[in-house]
Amino acid sequence: MLTMDDFVNEDDPILRQVAVEVPLPASNEDKKLLDSLMEYVQNSQKPDISALYGLRAGIGLAAPQVNVSKRMIAVHLKEKDGQLYSYALFNPKLISHSVEKAYLTSGEGCLSVNRPVSGYVPRYARITVVGTDLEGTSVQLRLKGIAAICFQHEIDHLNGIMFYDHINPEDPYAIPENSIALER
Ligand code: ZN
Repeated sequence: MLTMDDFVNEDDPILRQVAVEVPLPASNEDKKLLDSLMEYVQNSQKPDISALYGLRAGIGLAAPQVNVSKRMIAVHLKEKDGQLYSYALFNPKLISHSVEKAYLTSGEGCLSVNRPVSGYVPRYARITVVGTDLEGTSVQLRLKGIAAICFQHEIDHLNGIMFYDHINPEDPYAIPENSIALER
């Protein structure tokens, strides 16, 4: 299983690379890695296991964060209405998005960034993502709320983009234009 020891440092150049597409059908090695990304995110949300292994809690993880520059992400999060979003995807792609933006009032965090970073991160309020799951099935997801923010954060990792790249350097708490505020 993955632990924090498998994570690269924030300044590792792999976090700035554009990750390569995973050839499909996925190899057993690639499936194993994607499965372990999901396992990490799920374990990190279980108090007993996360305490035992010293896991930082997260709701999403991308392969470059554990030193593999391939297009794979895992997201596991429960929205406030109780709906669970749990997806492990090869080659996730944002195919459309709203004009309206959204941002988390608490800002964003990242398992690759061991320091607080202040500021609002403008994201699209609604997105459509396509990808392929561990069973090899094509999926298309329409997302809003925290789930939409999380998928954009993770897909950014596949393109070498960190969440703080989006923060307005002159005014980190400037309200993004045409945006809705989301509370976690
Ligand atoms: Zn991150």
